[in-house]
Amino acid sequence: MPHLPTLRLGSQGPNVKKLKMNLNGLSKNYNNFVIDNIFDRKTEDVVKNYQDDIKLPRDGIVGPATWASLIKRVKLIQAKLDSLGYHAGSPDGWFSQTTTDAVKRFQRDHRLVQEGVVNPRTRVSLFAPHSADNFERRPSSTALSSLDPYVASLAGKFLRLARANNLDVHITNGFRSWDESDRLYAQGRTTPGPKVSNARGGDSYHNWGLAFDAAPFENNKISNDQTKYIRMGHLGEQVGLEWGGTFKSIVDLPHYQYTFGLTTEDLQNGKRPPR
Ligand SMILES: [Zn+2]
Repeated sequence: MPHLPTLRLGSQGPNVKKLKMNLNGLSKNYNNFVIDNIFDRKTEDVVKNYQDDIKLPRDGIVGPATWASLIKRVKLIQAKLDSLGYHAGSPDGWFSQTTTDAVKRFQRDHRLVQEGVVNPRTRVSLFAPHSADNFERRPSSTALSSLDPYVASLAGKFLRLARANNLDVHITNGFRSWDESDRLYAQGRTTPGPKVSNARGGDSYHNWGLAFDAAPFENNKISNDQTKYIRMGHLGEQVGLEWGGTFKSIVDLPHYQYTFGLTTEDLQNGKRPPR
C-alpha cells in the first residue's frame, strides 16, 4: 500500500476524493456527501460512524488504521467480483469507476437496484447467496419468537425484572423487515417527510433478530416519562443487554440489542451467532 496522508476536516486533494469513493462504494454515504476533493463536515460524520462500526476511536480522522480497514474491505469486494467473472479491475482497494461498473453489472444480473454501491442486499448476494435463514424476506414482528433465541431469552428476563420493579414494559418493535427499513431509509431522501433513519434494510440489528425496542406503559399507553426509560435501561444492562441510551452517535432510549460481537456487515457476509 502506498503511503497515504492522514485526512481530517478541511483536508483537500485527490486522496479525499478516493476516500469518498471508497466510503460511498461501501454504502456508508447515508448523508449524501458530494464525491469531490473536499473533506467537509458530512464526510467527517460518515467517517466517525464508520469508525464506530469497526471499533476504532470515533475521532473522524482518517489515519493508517481507518485507511487500512477501508482498503481491505474494497479489496475483498473486488476479488469476489473478479472471481465471479465481473471484471472489477485488479484488487487494489480503490472503489474506482471500473469497480462501480462491475457492481452495476452484478446488480443487473441479480435483479438488484443498479446503483453501483455495495448496499446490504448486494453484499448478501455477493458473499452469502445461499443462506437458508432468509432474513431478507421475514415479516416485521413484535413477538419474542421473532428474535434470535438467546436474545429472546434475555428479553424475557428483562421484562420479568422490569415487572418486579413495578414497570409495565412492552416490546414495541422486534424483528423489522428489510422492506420496512428500506421504506424508513427512503423517507426524507426519495420520499416525502423528515429523515428518520440512516439504516437500510440489513444495516440494523432489528433486521437480524438481535435487537428490540421496549417502552414503559401507563394506563395502556406508551409513557414519555424519561426517568422510566432510564430505569429500564439499567435493568436491561443488568441482564446483559446493550442499551441504546448509551449509544454515542444517536442516543436511542427504547432500543436494546445483543450482537455476539458481530457487526451488521459480518451478518451480511454470512456470519451468524453461535448456536
Ligand atoms: Zn431499535
